[in-house]
Parts: sequence; C-alpha cells; structure tokens
Amino acid sequence: MGDMVVTCRKCGAKNRVSAAKQHLGPKCGKCKAALDLSGAQLGAAEVSDANFDSFLASTDQVVMLDFFSPTCGPCRGMMPVVESLADRFRGRAVVAKIDSTVNLAAASRCAIRGVPAFLFFRNGREVDRITGAVPEKTLAEKLDSLS
Ligand SMILES: [Zn+2]
Repeated sequence: MGDMVVTCRKCGAKNRVSAAKQHLGPKCGKCKAALDLSGAQLGAAEVSDANFDSFLASTDQVVMLDFFSPTCGPCRGMMPVVESLADRFRGRAVVAKIDSTVNLAAASRCAIRGVPAFLFFRNGREVDRITGAVPEKTLAEKLDSLS
C-alpha cells in the first residue's frame, strides 16, 4: 500500500494520492474538486517519529495507530486487517501504522510493551488501546464506538 492514482470524477484528471495524506481532503490538481476516495484501496498511512505529533494533530477524526514489528508473526497477521480497516473507515476514522522497532520515541512515549498494540487517539490524546492480535470485528467495533 502507499500511493495510488485516483481519477477525478469531475474533470477526469488522474491524481496521485498518498496513503499518508488520504485523510486531509485531497483535491484534484487540475480542477481543485475534492477527490472521491470511496472504494480506493490506499490502506493505512505509515507514521514515524518524525511526523507522529503532526499526523495526530492533522485530523479531528479518531485515529487508530497500529504499533507493529516487521518481524513479529502476529503483527504480520494483523497487517491485512489494518489495511482493510483503513479503507473501510475512511472518512470516519483514520487508520495508520508505525514500526515500533525503528520509531523508538513514539513507542516509548506510548509505553508500548508488546506488539501488536492498537492505540486510539482523539485530538492527539490516547483515548483507548487494545493489545495483542484480535479479530477485525473487535477493532471495527472499537472504531464504531469512538467515531
Ligand atoms: Zn478534476
């Protein structure tokens, strides 16, 4: 997942949209119409120590952030779920992921002791968390209850 090309429904221009900016109301570069991302398979935005604060501050929507390790089996198992939830909840909640093995400042600040860990933020503040691999339904219900 990452960038994808979205065709503007107004003028037909093709626009490249990055997963990291999908929640910012991307507009067509040609006609400035808001791009319709419904059904787009952009997946989860990737967050890092560098943009942790600015990303959380960039939206009024609830943010679910998946702290993962690339070498952790359960984390890898959850990845398709996270990507799916990102597309499913787009427009209502923001789903993002962060590699806890290289983004040590964020992992430390959030007191991550095991992965995967799913932290829910509103206006930059943690409002809930779920740790360990869980069914998609569990995360979806939490997002439903918070968004
Ligand atoms: Zn356009």
